Amino acid sequence: MDSALRARLAGNGLFNRVDVAALEHLIEDCAHWVVAAGETLLEPGTINDCLYVVLRGELRVYLSGHEAPAHTVVGVGECVGEMSVINGQGASALVIAAVESELLVMPQEILWALIERSHGFARNLLAILAGRIRMDNLALVTTASRSLEFEQAASVDALTGLHNRRWMSDAFPRSIRRCEQDGAPLCLVMADIDSFRRLNDAHGHLTGDAVLRAVARRLAESLRAPDLIARYGGEEFAILLPHTATEEGLRIAERLRLSVELMSLAKLADGAVGRVTISCGVAPLGLDTELETLVTAAEGALRRAKDGGRNKVEVAG
Ligand code: GH3
Ligand code: MG
Ligand code: MG
Repeated sequence: MDSALRARLAGNGLFNRVDVAALEHLIEDCAHWVVAAGETLLEPGTINDCLYVVLRGELRVYLSGHEAPAHTVVGVGECVGEMSVINGQGASALVIAAVESELLVMPQEILWALIERSHGFARNLLAILAGRIRMDNLALVTTASRSLEFEQAASVDALTGLHNRRWMSDAFPRSIRRCEQDGAPLCLVMADIDSFRRLNDAHGHLTGDAVLRAVARRLAESLRAPDLIARYGGEEFAILLPHTATEEGLRIAERLRLSVELMSLAKLADGAVGRVTISCGVAPLGLDTELETLVTAAEGALRRAKDGGRNKVEVAG
């Protein structure tokens, strides 16, 4: 990391009294953006999964359109987007660059990794969040910018609202690399809805879509904050559990399986849809740390769960 960047981060907002040098490998994974004066960074209406730290310049936050006076000015070392990253929801503020500004773009999983690594960082983030709440400034929660919307459309699955495979191919290897560096365990879980074709045939594709959405939401809600989930394709989901050893990964997959089994689908298709179940394959981080290898191993285990009668969890190896 260049010393100018280190100097700009140190002693400011999120990185106040934080040993930036020790977190360099994480910060280096963040993108740098330059936004022109007057350019919209964040806009109401979409989900945001990055936090933006101002490295140079200034952002203005508007709560009710930019005809009204700016609600807040966000300067060097301060950030926007933290609330929506944490609660996973979009919100309503408009954020515009007042002058040409340079931003550090921190994806969700790097934010969580920083929280885990550094007490100082976690403390500063808490202080910022407390400030936002006090100022009744929850709308700062943000959403994505117009330019971000394209990126978002490319990385979020429209049916379920989960991230898609393209996003997964970026975010999962980063998380794997981080666990590897820390010498920490990790599990990949592949989860697939059982006999979904039959459900589609019996109740129609639209009901199938509604079930798919419900299962996606159920899985996402059942995970811990640093866990990652993506729709891998069709009715199959990929779930990455950082800092998780095999036994715990198995327990979590079992909990996900049960949580879907217990889901009430009474509101769908006049309650005609009975129980929906998933099968899971769990693969721990082994000697080979390529995502593709982990997926293949987890899918092998998933296959055994299907062959074993479905509504089951199997571990690879
Ligand atoms: P198994 O228990 O072995 O997984 O059986 P299955 O029927 O779930 O698996 P199969 O791969 O034979 O069928 C998957 C079905 O999922 C077929 C496809 O039409 C359906 N499907 C995939 N994507 C969607 C979707 O977006 N919406 C709906 N409604 N159905 C989908
Ligand atoms: Mg299936
Ligand atoms: Mg499938």
